[in-house]
Amino acid sequence: MSLARYKQKRNFKDTPEPEGKVTKAKDKLTFVIQRHHASHLHYDFRLELNGTLKSWAVPKGPSLNPADKRLAMMVEDHPISYATFEGDIPEGNYGAGHVDVWDHGTYEPVDEKGKVITVAAFTKALKTGSIKFAMKGRKLKGEFALVKLKSDEKSWLLIKHRDKYATDDEYTAEDYAKKSSLAYTAKRLAAKKAPLKKATAKKAASKKAAPKKTAAKKAAVKKKPTKRVTT
Ligand code: MN
Repeated sequence: MSLARYKQKRNFKDTPEPEGKVTKAKDKLTFVIQRHHASHLHYDFRLELNGTLKSWAVPKGPSLNPADKRLAMMVEDHPISYATFEGDIPEGNYGAGHVDVWDHGTYEPVDEKGKVITVAAFTKALKTGSIKFAMKGRKLKGEFALVKLKSDEKSWLLIKHRDKYATDDEYTAEDYAKKSSLAYTAKRLAAKKAPLKKATAKKAASKKAAPKKTAAKKAAVKKKPTKRVTT
């Protein structure tokens, strides 16, 4: 597992995203889903595995309805510390736009019958393009599968397994975000970990130092639309 691709795509002097490092797993594997309002709104689905977050961009977001097979595009591994990242990636940077934590929790890798399997077996299954896992999140619960499509190297499908947490109702991540009273910020999630000091300090400093620069920048953006890259 390596963060080379993650680091290559980003300029850490300009983005508040964490530079991070490959981290040893604690007792339980974690997951995070971030709502990323880049040029196209999508949800980033991230599973901790072997020291990084395996990541997929899900345009429609996850669903608890087994009938929904949600396209999930595999993207570069992210650092574990990315799980608590919320904020704005500035214009001109990779994935420019707003990021919120939509759900987080722990998961267990399981086999076809729902029996817990080892990390090694799960890593092997990931390589073959078919994994199953049981999620313990605030919004997402129960078993899910990620299955790679044969059409290309990056396309997978995220599918809810039929269990007591499944629903036959129409399910959109956007509606659920609005209906849910579980709104919270990554700051709360990170309260027991490292606070998001770096990003906050940077924001405050730039505001203080050059308040007019932002307005000038906005005007410049109006004249010449900045390229945005979806991640
Ligand atoms: Mn993204």
